Amino acid sequence: MSIDIFEEMKKSNTEQIVFNYNKDTGLKSIIAINDTTVGPALGGCRILDYDSTDEAIIDAIRLAAGMTHKCSIAGSNYGGGKTVVIADPKVDKNEILLRDIGKFVQTLNGRYYIGPDVGTTSQDMVEISNQTDYAVSLPEEYGGFGDPSKPTAYGVYMAMKSAAKFKYGSDSLKNKTIAIQGVGKVGGILVEYLSKEGANIIISGRTEESTGAILSKFPDVKVVPADEIYKQECDIFSPCALGGILNEENIEKLKCHIIAGAANNQLDELSSGQILHDKGIIFAPDFVINTGGFISASDTLDAGNVNMDRVMSKTEKIYDLTYMILEKSKDEDIPTTEIAIKIAEDRIRLIGKINNKFIK
Ligand code: NAD
Repeated sequence: MSIDIFEEMKKSNTEQIVFNYNKDTGLKSIIAINDTTVGPALGGCRILDYDSTDEAIIDAIRLAAGMTHKCSIAGSNYGGGKTVVIADPKVDKNEILLRDIGKFVQTLNGRYYIGPDVGTTSQDMVEISNQTDYAVSLPEEYGGFGDPSKPTAYGVYMAMKSAAKFKYGSDSLKNKTIAIQGVGKVGGILVEYLSKEGANIIISGRTEESTGAILSKFPDVKVVPADEIYKQECDIFSPCALGGILNEENIEKLKCHIIAGAANNQLDELSSGQILHDKGIIFAPDFVINTGGFISASDTLDAGNVNMDRVMSKTEKIYDLTYMILEKSKDEDIPTTEIAIKIAEDRIRLIGKINNKFIK
């Protein structure tokens, strides 16, 4: 192991890391709890065939820290956490492994709630919940919200309209050109919203199957090869596939005014946010605008019941939040992501101060 774990925890303000191993099931999992000032940690379970344990630890730490910002900016009662499991989900995921993940979550006694992420689904949460009381986003038939992609896409759509209002003075996306990278669950629903509004839509996908499914329903959509998407002349570029794609090389190719998409951690480094800012490209921070899915989980947990209208109306507030961040970024000449992080961290600090006072 080459990383200094405590140094990484210090850099990211991580409260706790729990390593879980079971030689009988083969489970190797890491639960990172970044911050519980506001409430218990909440975050997805990523099952991935990591190349090394170091890589898995760093991913858990980074993802949990990102969740802290997401939970706070969404105004929720939760802090950031994440589980990573070192395994190939296609080969190793089964009932026993999932139950074992749940068993270790239960040992944290409510300090952390687990949900779906890359490599896990709402259905997997059913197996996990056989061993823990602290699983969220179960399918509807099990009392959970189910697939969070609809609110996530709605939030991104709201952010696109807000950024359009900021840039062009109108939030109408009619005749605006929008290039979407990745048309899976979220990207596919975004195409529906945008096509209803009369936008010109360009898409790219990793497989012909995903783009073909969109084309069959929306024949006017233009499909471009995956590596061509960055170069498209457009109003809005919407990354809905992968993180880390806003690096120096790709930013150089962009011909858009606005970036607003669902993918987590789109900036490879915080400094790429500065490059976008200097180029005058408006970046709607991912952890602000893709919170619809998180809202569906936290709202259902808080209320004890599923209510789509309530979730969508909370998600709609992403419009105003995005606008406020874009205005502040312009006024203070600071990249949008840094503004959003400051808002999220200030809220946590102030709530911490309230909770520190002993008032009977
Ligand atoms: P998904 O897996 O359903 O869709 C992603 C799509 O991107 C797939 O069709 C995949 O083939 C495609 N893709 C992969 N690499 C690509 C490339 N290089 N170029 C073009 N397409 C490529 O995932 P999703 O649920 O739609 O989520 C999209 C993104 O948003 C992910 O990064 C996810 O982490 C993030 N996100 C999703 C939610 C949610 O509610 N689903 C919530 C928050 C964040």
